[in-house]
Amino acid sequence: MPAIGQSIKIDNVSKFYGSFQALDSVSLEADAGEFLTILGSSGSGKTTLLKIIAGFEAANDGQILINGADIAGKKSYERNIGMLFQNYALFPHMTVAENIAYPLKLRKIDKDEIAERVNFIIKLIKLDGMEKRLPKQLSGGQQQRCALARAIVYNPPLLLLDEPLGALDKNLRHEMQFEIKRIQKELGITTISVTHDQEEALTMSDKICIMSHGVIQQCSSPEEIYNEPRNQFVAEFIGSTNLIKGTVMTKYKENGCRVSMVKTGLTDEPVRIEEPLDRRQFNLDDVLLALRPELIHLMKNRSGHINSFKASILNSVYMGDYYKVLIRVQDGSELNVKISPEAYRQYAGEKELEFFFNADCVTTIYEKEKGVMLKTIE
Ligand code: ADP
Ligand code: MG
Repeated sequence: MPAIGQSIKIDNVSKFYGSFQALDSVSLEADAGEFLTILGSSGSGKTTLLKIIAGFEAANDGQILINGADIAGKKSYERNIGMLFQNYALFPHMTVAENIAYPLKLRKIDKDEIAERVNFIIKLIKLDGMEKRLPKQLSGGQQQRCALARAIVYNPPLLLLDEPLGALDKNLRHEMQFEIKRIQKELGITTISVTHDQEEALTMSDKICIMSHGVIQQCSSPEEIYNEPRNQFVAEFIGSTNLIKGTVMTKYKENGCRVSMVKTGLTDEPVRIEEPLDRRQFNLDDVLLALRPELIHLMKNRSGHINSFKASILNSVYMGDYYKVLIRVQDGSELNVKISPEAYRQYAGEKELEFFFNADCVTTIYEKEKGVMLKTIE
């Protein structure tokens, strides 16, 4: 079957409820067949954006283009968008097959085609044998599959998911994440999903857009969101991270990179950081270094490693495949570190501990501009 997904572009969409601004110039794009997740805490405007895409709410400003065409003039039912929300409300008096067939009947598709289509989808979502059951005779996960089938049976070019797995328990949620992704890829439906669950976003998405107070903070691949957060909000929102204050001492250009020597309270020597020149402004001096706990390594004392520093362990928790350790650095600041059980058992008993990190693993976040540069080599 050919892929049915179409591209969607949301361009500078703003929404006010009275004087309250729920969306502030939101722009994002999903290519045909892509799975895009909008990740944000409760009240950040996720559902509002989906409602605007679906045509249940009107934007105050901006445009939505599906396959390049503005959908502003189209009524909700003319947009032909598939939707699956948390309260998926199957019709309780209809069987599984009847529930799934319902959108096709509405569209006056002929009987044989309906039967064929329902059959295909039931196999795809693995509900074969349950066609004649009523929703109350299904488990939560099966009901969710049935609702998904009903949302995609008429081949919508776009599927909207609003926290669809929120009501399921953890194991089922993982299973359904995998299932939805499988079906989405198999059919090639462009999907916009919204969730506050970062693990769900990281595992399911081709692209993640982090939203806070109606503003998109960053739209990137899951890897980039995790490894190269654009600002402090994103760095703190995804996973756990250490944010270390630093001041840029010197900066210069080298092989198309900006090289900064950043003084922190962590190491005696400044940390050398390289990054592509076009990514950041060149005139900022106050930085935050974002350093993930798994990228700080414990090692033998006085190894002379670059970017190494002394610290003591404040407390540690055994997590099975790693130790979650809180350490105190010379300047009194505290860092979270993930240490392999092997390294922990080998070194943790020693009085003076040393840690190191690879500067490649540090993300520099330039938050605000400060006056004077100490030294600049252009
Ligand atoms: P999310 O789905 O991310 O939890 P929503 O889009 O539902 O967030 O809501 C975003 C903000 O807009 C919230 O502060 C909410 O209270 C407000 N809001 C949502 N719908 C309405 C409405 N119909 N009238 C007034 N305020 C609303
Ligand atoms: Mg919501």
